[in-house]
Amino acid sequence: MIPKVKRPGDRRVIPLEVRANVRVSPSFSRLTFGGPALAGFTGIGLDHSVRLFFPRAGQDRLWLPSLNNDAWMAQTMLQPVSRRPWVRNYTVYAYRPDEQELDIEFALHGDHGPASAWAARARPGDPAGIFAEGYSYLPPDGADRQLLVGDESALPAILSILSSAPAGLTGHAFLEVPESADIREHVDRPEGVRVTWLPRDGSGTIPGALALEAVRQAPGLGAPDYAWIAGESRLATGVRRHLVGERHLDKKQIAFIGYWRHGRSSPG
Ligand SMILES: Cc1cc2nc3c(=O)[nH]c(=O)nc-3n(C[C@H](O)[C@H](O)[C@H](O)COP(=O)(O)OP(=O)(O)OC[C@H]3O[C@@H](n4cnc5c(N)ncnc54)[C@H](O)[C@@H]3O)c2cc1C
Repeated sequence: MIPKVKRPGDRRVIPLEVRANVRVSPSFSRLTFGGPALAGFTGIGLDHSVRLFFPRAGQDRLWLPSLNNDAWMAQTMLQPVSRRPWVRNYTVYAYRPDEQELDIEFALHGDHGPASAWAARARPGDPAGIFAEGYSYLPPDGADRQLLVGDESALPAILSILSSAPAGLTGHAFLEVPESADIREHVDRPEGVRVTWLPRDGSGTIPGALALEAVRQAPGLGAPDYAWIAGESRLATGVRRHLVGERHLDKKQIAFIGYWRHGRSSPG
């Protein structure tokens, strides 16, 4: 499941600190990170993601790799656990170059995930770091009718994609969230894009299952020109399989990214 990703030119390890932590809704915290090292950061928008470095419990300082290329990972993994930070993937939800700060929205899923636990408690002044990855939302020219599907982990990416979409874009976004109170009152999007919120509200299904079923059953969906799907790995592969098998999309019309796997920790 390797998506095509476009990488920004400027890729370096950037030390930051937490500037704010706001609980947006029961399941989401928006953390603002800032610092002078962000100067010159290429904020692409869309689903632009970063590797986020943050300290393990008990570490009193954050060690960051010194290598500004893909070798950062080997360098990090070679550190003893006592020094090695946690590393997870997150989407840059907003970037404000003038203030040298960016926002990341964390879907909180309890204390069993280090990133979720850290985000729930992070305070202004806490250290963090990022390394820019890239973005995979790459619709071909003329793809005016699109399908966007995600669970809560992909909500920041889909909201970011919709907020910069051309006014003439049409299509449908399926957004699965843990509960009704996580539904955003306003979604900045082109008029022709319909948004369907899918709150689990304690139904007990694993994240992504509702969205997968909604896409399978959507009567007026037809065959979009382009589809972007992200979230729990079965959601991503399931929607792709459905679009290729039942709606006869060419595989090239689909970007699908398993952001995480139910029951498995992300590596790093
Ligand atoms: C390119 C990319 C961009 C991403 N952007 C975002 C983003 O902007 N916001 C965001 O919240 N997530 C985002 N994710 C997903 C995030 O990286 C994963 O959810 C990650 O596993 C969280 O790390 P953790 O330390 O909390 O949990 P882990 O240690 O990785 O996992 C611990 C346990 O929690 C489960 N788990 C992991 N994530 C979730 C979840 N979201 N809901 C329920 N259970 C979960 C795992 O299955 C495992 O059982 C992105 C992933 C990728 C690849």
